Amino acid sequence: MNSKLKISSAFDGGNINLIEANAPSNIRVNIPLDTNSHFFQWFYFRLQGAMGEECRIYFDNASEAAYAEGWHDYQAVASYDREYWFRVPTEYVDGKLVICHTPEQDSVYYAYFAPYSYERHLDMLAWASSQDNCLSHDIGTTAEGRDITLLEIGKTQALAKNIWIIARQHPGETMAQWFIEGLLERLCDESHPIARALLEQCRFYIVPNMNPDGSIHGNLRVNSKGINLNREWQTPTEELSPEVLAVQNKMTEIGVDLFLDIHGDETLPVNFVDGCRNIPAFDQRIADMESLFSGTLLAVSPDFQVVKGYDNDYFGDETLKIASKWVGQTYKCLSLTLEMPFKDNELLPDSEVGWSPERSKILGADILYPIYQVVNSPSMKSDL
Ligand SMILES: [Zn+2]
Repeated sequence: MNSKLKISSAFDGGNINLIEANAPSNIRVNIPLDTNSHFFQWFYFRLQGAMGEECRIYFDNASEAAYAEGWHDYQAVASYDREYWFRVPTEYVDGKLVICHTPEQDSVYYAYFAPYSYERHLDMLAWASSQDNCLSHDIGTTAEGRDITLLEIGKTQALAKNIWIIARQHPGETMAQWFIEGLLERLCDESHPIARALLEQCRFYIVPNMNPDGSIHGNLRVNSKGINLNREWQTPTEELSPEVLAVQNKMTEIGVDLFLDIHGDETLPVNFVDGCRNIPAFDQRIADMESLFSGTLLAVSPDFQVVKGYDNDYFGDETLKIASKWVGQTYKCLSLTLEMPFKDNELLPDSEVGWSPERSKILGADILYPIYQVVNSPSMKSDL
């Protein structure tokens, strides 16, 4: 190894294996497997000792990643201060992902997407708990002993609609928690009319991070047991998927009138929602609410679109194991998976940052508009 160059990832969310770094132009790494799993794609590491050097960082095993097709047209993110993350030139050639970047400082961090740390998660929970109308519930414990936290926000109990929103079942999809941060800030803004109106009509039940163990391990898809939580909704267990079981138990107790599950998509360069058209319970009422939700979000956010998304049979036999489908089938309510891109929104691209924490937060705040529309629609009111 070049005596100056150093690669490290022994920190919260860090994930890389160094193969060799004998020159800035020949740094070779592998992305390690998720814990107890065959999935991998999330990377996050620090490079030191290459200031002013034209670096080429080769990801030798990129073609075996969970969504190798997602590397096409993908640009990695970098940061010097771990606050501002910008895109750096990245190629996918001959089965290898290559970051081509000349660091301006001695220390630079690279990641698959802007990380969302466990400390920031705890800060978010502490901030939210200090807001009026917000309660924090400890609903369970992960396999490694971390709290599974549910935030409850609302002003009223009488005839309140129960709105459930969960994020980061897939821990590497950090944009999902940035989205929740924006949503919470809007919802707790006491002068915002949408927040004020919704809190009179609804109670929000929000799980900002479904998979804290996987987040800390730097996993893309699974918890510390190697379990993909978004295939566990038909048969969750205390041993393998306590995160899902804890949420389902609370749903049984409280009820569900609307459900959103927030994700990131490795491949599609757009924001989209995936509904319940392929579940047995799907009917005109749910279809109407899906159309109203999408139409409203389309009207308020040029970052949303309805042309690209998953095909009807995308999940095949696994359909009812997916959170949004299981909730839709069980509670016969509007139930959506919302996907944001790892790349960028090709309809409104930003070459500097791509899809970003800031843009995820804005979409998270804007999501209150379609919720407000649906909550006040005849389809929703008919079952009061
Ligand atoms: Zn996901």
